[in-house]
Amino acid sequence: MKKPVILGGTPAFSNPVFISRPMIPDKDELFSELEKILSSRWLTNNGKYLQDFERELTKFLEVDYCSVFCNGTIALQLAIQALRIAGEAITTPFTFPATIHSLYWNNTKPVFCDIDPLTYNIDVTKIESLITPNTTAIVPVHVFGNPCDVEKLDQIAKNYGISVIYDAAHAFGVKYNGKAIGKYGNASMFSFHATKSFNTLEGGAVTSSDASFNHRISYYKNFGIMDEEHVIGPGINGKMNEFQAAFGLLNLKKIKNENEKRKRLTKVYEDSLRNIEGLGFQLFDSAVERNYQYFTIRIDHTKFGISRDELHVALRQENIVTRKYFYPLCSNYSCYHALPSASRDNLPEANRLAESILSVPLYGDLNDDDVMKITECIKSCQHHSKDIKGKVKQV
Ligand SMILES: *Cc1c(COP(=O)(O)O)cnc(C)c1O
Repeated sequence: MKKPVILGGTPAFSNPVFISRPMIPDKDELFSELEKILSSRWLTNNGKYLQDFERELTKFLEVDYCSVFCNGTIALQLAIQALRIAGEAITTPFTFPATIHSLYWNNTKPVFCDIDPLTYNIDVTKIESLITPNTTAIVPVHVFGNPCDVEKLDQIAKNYGISVIYDAAHAFGVKYNGKAIGKYGNASMFSFHATKSFNTLEGGAVTSSDASFNHRISYYKNFGIMDEEHVIGPGINGKMNEFQAAFGLLNLKKIKNENEKRKRLTKVYEDSLRNIEGLGFQLFDSAVERNYQYFTIRIDHTKFGISRDELHVALRQENIVTRKYFYPLCSNYSCYHALPSASRDNLPEANRLAESILSVPLYGDLNDDDVMKITECIKSCQHHSKDIKGKVKQV
């Protein structure tokens, strides 16, 4: 078995292997499109490429309406605003800061709900006890592309007359029970950031089944301008430009292949790491068509031998860059930790998960041997856990 670098071995990789590597279009094709955009001098503002991209995305995501934005965060903020969310919104602390900040920017108080320790999504059995007369929405996250309990959420929303806005940043192309993930709830936000499986450098989209809502967010992203004579509301600049849209149109041709590669690599990870004492995987329902956005492992340090943090440090020395997504928990940020719902007592599962989760490298350009090397390093860290424990404290 390999000797970990932290105990004097040689690194598994000579250059850092990052957690993700963005998918890029064929360069010749891209440059030829950019050339056309430059010649046309139509660089932004509902140009040809943006219109084509919105149309192709609507088809690909199998939704009724899709509006694209300069990034996912602005897209989510505007979706929340266009649905007139105010007062309180119930959400998960186990997410990226943008989810909670989007509520803050809409003057809406986040009410944190604990998560399910197996799926990592909002625990739907705990939502109703958090609903008050001020609750206007639920903002759940399809964590790592794993669909929430969408049917139960839909039912709760109907019973209480509140909205559901999904942060589907990780869930591009995911389906549940054969139905596209972007068709659930009042609206869903997708992120096309460079770290996401499908990217437009920066970018995002909002999908929905409501034509008037889609019109509203489309005006909001262009300062609220309806036409030359009318500005219908205090909008903002949330527009995607023509370069990004061209990039997205070309990447859309490659995403199926990218997902296939990620699926194969995920199987290599799972087959190699299954049945390791103290190491667990996120639970996906069999009705889920996955997109393999991330591969995460959960470390139970009492059984695995070393903690998540110790494994993170030991792997870094092998040139394997892992990330503690999502740590720290949003409810523990200084800007939110004073909220009553942010207490650790209210969020035991989310706190435990944030302290034990680790995302490992996953992207289409990796090959099976790379993944095998990564899993060998994880196993050798466990094998040498007693010696590593003492070392990491000195690092
Ligand atoms: C990436 C991400 C966002 C933000 O998307 P941007 O396009 O980077 O603004 C929001 N929520 C989650 C869960 C994310 O992972």
